[in-house]
Amino acid sequence: MRLTLAIIIAKLASFFVKALNQGQATSLPGLLARKIDPKVLAKLSRKLKKGVIIVSGTNGKTTPTRLISNILKEANFSFIHNRAGANLLSGVTSSLLEKCSITGSLNQDWAIFEVDEATVPKVAEQTKPKVIVLMNLFRDQLDRYGELEKLANLWRETINNLPEETKIILNADDPLVSSIAINNKNIYFYGVNNENYKIEKIAESADSKNCPNCKEPLVYSALFYSHIGKYVCPKCGLKRPNLNLSAEEIRLNSFENIELKLRQNTNQLDLKAYLPGFYNAYNVLASTTVGLNLNISEDKIKQGIKNTKAAFGRLERFKLDNHNAILMLVKNPTGFNEVIRLLEIDGKKKKIIITLNDNIPDGRDISWIWDVDFERLIKTADYIFVAGQRAEELVLRLKYAGFNLNSLKQEKDYCKLLEISLAKLDNDETLYILPTYSSMLDLRKVIAEKGCVKKTWA
Ligand SMILES: [Zn+2]
Repeated sequence: MRLTLAIIIAKLASFFVKALNQGQATSLPGLLARKIDPKVLAKLSRKLKKGVIIVSGTNGKTTPTRLISNILKEANFSFIHNRAGANLLSGVTSSLLEKCSITGSLNQDWAIFEVDEATVPKVAEQTKPKVIVLMNLFRDQLDRYGELEKLANLWRETINNLPEETKIILNADDPLVSSIAINNKNIYFYGVNNENYKIEKIAESADSKNCPNCKEPLVYSALFYSHIGKYVCPKCGLKRPNLNLSAEEIRLNSFENIELKLRQNTNQLDLKAYLPGFYNAYNVLASTTVGLNLNISEDKIKQGIKNTKAAFGRLERFKLDNHNAILMLVKNPTGFNEVIRLLEIDGKKKKIIITLNDNIPDGRDISWIWDVDFERLIKTADYIFVAGQRAEELVLRLKYAGFNLNSLKQEKDYCKLLEISLAKLDNDETLYILPTYSSMLDLRKVIAEKGCVKKTWA
């Protein structure tokens, strides 16, 4: 009875939010329903034919969720997923409420939820997932610093309380994530064995340089990015666990795709993903591990991965006048450093727009830009255009990185910014645009509405 009432209220709320053009009702229905029946999420998730898959991590929840969805689709499973960004309890609950009948029945096989790191314990407790994938723990913004170990402890507690049959899929290359493993659980580790793309030194911005057990600095035989790699603790002996699924070979084909040779015991899988960038190897590894654990055939896994395109803002291509433009969202040092790495692959000098805002979605504290490896970026950039609310700080940061300010232009008006940057390009040259989240939305608006450049979104 209580459940039915909760569902009716949620569906009414959803109807009115949409009817009044107030958005997609991604959170409010869940919020209201949970007030009426606090167990609504638990009750509804039990109605799924197969169960729940949870994906969490600081950098990249959306991409692995999309990869897993496409693998499920290839295998003819039906599924529900929450919308990107609606990754708290109310968003997760809303996604089930949207699809359930008035009596609370659901026809789908699976629900796949991307879940905020700190919300994982609650969603896991209520949904008793069949599969949980934990990708990484990075410091997202400075104001959250110090919370990483707390999160890791919460995750450990969470997996300890999960049903025995839950498959727990962990990134072995992130020491903080792998250290939450518990012996008598179904743990599957994935990681990278190929050392072609290892980096020389641990970045200042890396979050977990020390052993999660004894705090001794970890020693890396191969470091792939930030604090992710093959590590060992010289004091207590903690080391990267043995891999159940490993990437033995990785080839980055610039902005096009990555090719991987994965190995599971003696079995080898060749895959291609149209998701450029080294970090996507981890997204492919995680989602392949899920597919294999659900007994989905290798062909279907490969096809599902091949079908996946980059998420909103992660890497978009379009035409600006007659030029190609590539837009990549930047939101924290780790992500930004990976974008820099991607820019370096083809060895060509580039003209780059960087925009920095400090609204809530960007993080109010912008001191994270001091952890971005601009010293490295300036070797790839032959001209940089700077914009956004905090453009001045960005100019200062670039100056400290040693960039020649004669090759830099600050312009806060996005219309003019696009005009002058396009004017600087050679005929066949691509413009690279690296915005923070809210400045990306502003920039899009200018491109789409004001018509200051021809609107030719691909
Ligand atoms: Zn140690």
